[in-house]
Amino acid sequence: METGAGIYLNDKVVPLAEARVSVLDHGFLYGDGVYETMRVYGGVVFMLEEHLARLEKSASLIELKLPKSPRQIKLAIFETLEACGHKDAYLRVTVSRGEGPIGLDPELCPRPTFFIIADRLKPQPRDIYEKGIHLAIVNTRRNLKEALDPQIKSLNFLNNIRAKIEAKKADAFEALMLNHRGHLSEGTTSNIFFVSEGALRTPGPQCGILRGITRDVVLTIARRLDMKVVEGEFTVEDLLGASEVFITSTIMEVVPVSRLTISMEGNRMEGTGIKLSVAGEITRALMAEYRKEVLSYVENTKAAGPSLWGFTE
Ligand code: PMP
Repeated sequence: METGAGIYLNDKVVPLAEARVSVLDHGFLYGDGVYETMRVYGGVVFMLEEHLARLEKSASLIELKLPKSPRQIKLAIFETLEACGHKDAYLRVTVSRGEGPIGLDPELCPRPTFFIIADRLKPQPRDIYEKGIHLAIVNTRRNLKEALDPQIKSLNFLNNIRAKIEAKKADAFEALMLNHRGHLSEGTTSNIFFVSEGALRTPGPQCGILRGITRDVVLTIARRLDMKVVEGEFTVEDLLGASEVFITSTIMEVVPVSRLTISMEGNRMEGTGIKLSVAGEITRALMAEYRKEVLSYVENTKAAGPSLWGFTE
């Protein structure tokens, strides 16, 4: 089987060179659209149902009607994965408002644009799991929920991109944004957890975050392991008192944080009082359990029959 990027545009798999979208597409003109990123393990899309449900939710929050049913999207995903040929893949489903005349009115666009990109999963830098990453608390505040709800996984990513630019300037792997009230919210493409006073803590949905699917899996595992879990509102000081910090995302899974800096208001300082241990016991346990969870999901899905996961050996 040929391997490369698999692209599905509107109603069929197309070669990359033919995968073209109009300059009048409102996804391009205004960031008007939604998407999901999924990770494929051994041909199985991890948490497929949850990702499709979140896509539907993002779309409904911007009053965009998906042009395909969940079943049709699944079939399109499997076709795209076959075209790409990689069993360990990155997969992105995007739906934009579609092509239409200039103007913000969604009704200008009669047909949403739908596309899927599947490609080989680029390995993460190996040492992020062993040595941990540098996380910088940045100036850029997470979008106000009432202005542009971070629950909408939209094509409008400038908020996160601004934070990413700050992180890069600070030589950090990821940025951590605070919300408008100064509480911890989330990373540019990740959620944050920390351990303090015997509890696993993470900003709750009220802080203005995307409810990460990895975050939900980690919370389920932690509760199953009888850990004390607190979803709430936390300050930078709370984080500075942590013994362990980690971030989560579909592509990266669970990644320990070994260095925390604050680069705000032009000042750059190391997080005072931070004594993060890379090999934090709770982080290690959750990293291992997460991998186990993925393996059992993949096995169960395969056991349910090849029609579900789209590949025949
Ligand atoms: N927050 C933001 C802003 C993100 O883009 C992502 C990546 N989708 C996450 C959190 C993590 O979510 P998930 O675990 O579903 O990948």
